[in-house]
Amino acid sequence: MSTAALPADALSGHRITSVDSAPLRSRYPRTIGRNARLGAHGDGPEALAITVRTDTGVSGWGIYEGPEPDLGACIGLPLEEIFDPAVGVIAPRALPLDIALHDLAATILGIPVHRMLGGHGALAVDCYSGAIYFDDLDPEQDPRGTAGVLASCAADWEAGYRAFKLKIGRGNRWMPVVAGFDRDLEVLQAVRTAYPGARLMVDMNDGYSPEQTVRFLDTAQEWDLFWIEEPFAEHRSGLALVREHLTRNGSEVLVADGEFEPDVGLVLDLAREGLLDVLLMDVLSFGFTAWRRLMPTVHEIGAVASPHAWGHPLKTLYAAQLAAGLGNIDVVESVPGTTDGVDASAYRLQDGRITLPATPGFALELSG
Ligand SMILES: [Mg+2]
Repeated sequence: MSTAALPADALSGHRITSVDSAPLRSRYPRTIGRNARLGAHGDGPEALAITVRTDTGVSGWGIYEGPEPDLGACIGLPLEEIFDPAVGVIAPRALPLDIALHDLAATILGIPVHRMLGGHGALAVDCYSGAIYFDDLDPEQDPRGTAGVLASCAADWEAGYRAFKLKIGRGNRWMPVVAGFDRDLEVLQAVRTAYPGARLMVDMNDGYSPEQTVRFLDTAQEWDLFWIEEPFAEHRSGLALVREHLTRNGSEVLVADGEFEPDVGLVLDLAREGLLDVLLMDVLSFGFTAWRRLMPTVHEIGAVASPHAWGHPLKTLYAAQLAAGLGNIDVVESVPGTTDGVDASAYRLQDGRITLPATPGFALELSG
């Protein structure tokens, strides 16, 4: 079923009666360390769960990250005035409810969110562990070296992951430039040796220069990387240097960017010019409605998407719903972990894929 098959008045007869928020705590399976730009990432973040209820006794919920929302802004409004199943949120004041309204509308329609989005992708979504940070540098008093990174890979492999994204760029803040660059290579070599068949990508978090990126790609050629992510803050001349290098070497490594404070117009232009292959705008801060609007353009340009999902583990499941719904997302970023008070057991991670439930809405149960 595509959304075009839904009657125009599919959501009529429901009025918003309450919008509540509650803090939500997630837990990573281990403390997550540093990357090129930031210090330790802790053992699990907090976010806000927003629940919307209607006068017909239906509810939907989703997490929200952003400035303090005005929870009263939509109370009393008919649902069809703020949400269209074919588009998403249609009233700016309802944007903090983006995820919650997708859940609510799909629940009312009796279909999973991915079906409401069009069902253009597979129901088993490839994912990678996004949790491989600078574990060689910790603990600070007795750093574990490469074995620390391999231990994280082993834990995530055991949990069902078959692809890893390695943070690199140690020379940006945490090590001398040359030693940090060498360690990046050493770690990558170790992981590739231990997991010869795994899909691997690297994320510099803007910690390399264009020249370092080219030198890195030279060495990394033998390791069959799937993509490099945020090598440096997006700029045309640097990305052109990288592209020339990749083309000259016949390399198929993709270039991914658009995660950190993206100028979406620029990111699209760079993709149009063939300088970016994978667009990373965040699943929450950019949002479902914005991705639904943008994806046809991304597809037309010949680029793909992989909405940034790091932070809350639930963001991975939302990204997987976008992948199954909109298509044009080959792989999603996965955040290992659990969320207190949320039953996410309808989703399964197996052999590197997240299988999505056929249950209406997001199929995530929030208790309490
Ligand atoms: Mg990143």
